[in-house]
Amino acid sequence: MSEVFLKKIIANNNRVDYIYNINGEISKYFNQENVLFLEYNKNISKVPFSILAIPFIANIAPLIWITDSVIYLEELDEVFYKSLDEVKKGYQAMFPSMNFKGSIIVKKLVNNEYEINTQSAALFSGGLDALTTYIRNKNSNPILITEYAWHEQRIQKNETWEADKKNALLFGTSNNLTNIFVESNYGTIIRSNLVDKDYSKKLGDTWWHGLHHGLAIISAAIPIVFEMRIQTLFIASSNTPAFKVTCASDPTVDNKIKFASGKVIHDGYELTRQKKLNMVLNNSSDLENIQLRVCFKQEQNCCKCEKCLRTIMGIIAEGHDPRNFGFNLPEGSVEMSDFLSNALRKEIKFFTNNFIQIYWLEIRSRFRDNYQKICFKEVCLWMNNYNFRKERFKELMVYRIRYFFPIVRRKIKNLYRDSLYYQRSR
Ligand SMILES: [Zn+2]
Repeated sequence: MSEVFLKKIIANNNRVDYIYNINGEISKYFNQENVLFLEYNKNISKVPFSILAIPFIANIAPLIWITDSVIYLEELDEVFYKSLDEVKKGYQAMFPSMNFKGSIIVKKLVNNEYEINTQSAALFSGGLDALTTYIRNKNSNPILITEYAWHEQRIQKNETWEADKKNALLFGTSNNLTNIFVESNYGTIIRSNLVDKDYSKKLGDTWWHGLHHGLAIISAAIPIVFEMRIQTLFIASSNTPAFKVTCASDPTVDNKIKFASGKVIHDGYELTRQKKLNMVLNNSSDLENIQLRVCFKQEQNCCKCEKCLRTIMGIIAEGHDPRNFGFNLPEGSVEMSDFLSNALRKEIKFFTNNFIQIYWLEIRSRFRDNYQKICFKEVCLWMNNYNFRKERFKELMVYRIRYFFPIVRRKIKNLYRDSLYYQRSR
């Protein structure tokens, strides 16, 4: 049986470092160079170790459970420790084909109850989900917490993170809100490709998407939530009950996470993405500097990927101009229409059935419903009758014929690289 020992937590001003040992098979899944750290724009050195231990445990607990391993540590918050059982049950119900076993062995459970000082905080990426959650809860004046997970051994300047921070800070200061920033390497401490190699087939999902990111994002905020004596931490939902998908961040998991006197609310699950868009657009005149940041790990919205296109088209379908919300697009209705139809033609081959079903059919029906108020009528002309599956099939054929040999060559190269990586890590 594999074991992880959390040996030491070093809290110094704004930063926490974790020292740990790993024994057994599970060690191959850990990136030995990247040792977990968290750095905040606020001093957390007074936060007790039993709270600081939470992000470490939360980041690796799902791996411990699926590999039937054990974590040993000195101290942990009692409320969080108890809530982990419910979190585990949530994942077990989500992934019935896996056995969630393993254990977390703690020498001392600590009661860290506190008097509430601040009503709420909201995890804030600047994306559509996060903005919706802010709007829905703005009466509680939430503190905005923005995170970056992709450092490696140390903090290094990253343009995407700088742009995320700048956007969150602009939104925060212009709407009189407090910004908290968290920088970490929690996204790189696990060799997710190796976990996926062994488990993704059985899970039907990837490690990061299916098991890791929800707990990681929420738990990185917990030391600051404790420090500021906050009652509720909101995390915005990305999914809806209409289309059940497996996802590490799900109400059946997130809402079970409790710690000290704090709780987590998975917010906005009942809303489709288009309804969220509607809510943000309808509130846009009351808020300053709404720039939607939807493009993954990009300094700016690229306006060409599925997520950018889905958001742009969704905004147009609600009768608004996407250029007012952070999308750099050509001026003029004809130019806009040409740009979007070209971009969609290039991207459609990568659309999954789920994406079409969950997002795009609703966008098309909003185009039909809102024809009168849409400013870019040329886009309506083709979007109203756009057949997603047929267009995808057509573009996929063209792509496969054109790139047959490069695709085969790339696949062979990837297989070879994976097998080398796997051998080296053993
Ligand atoms: Zn994009």
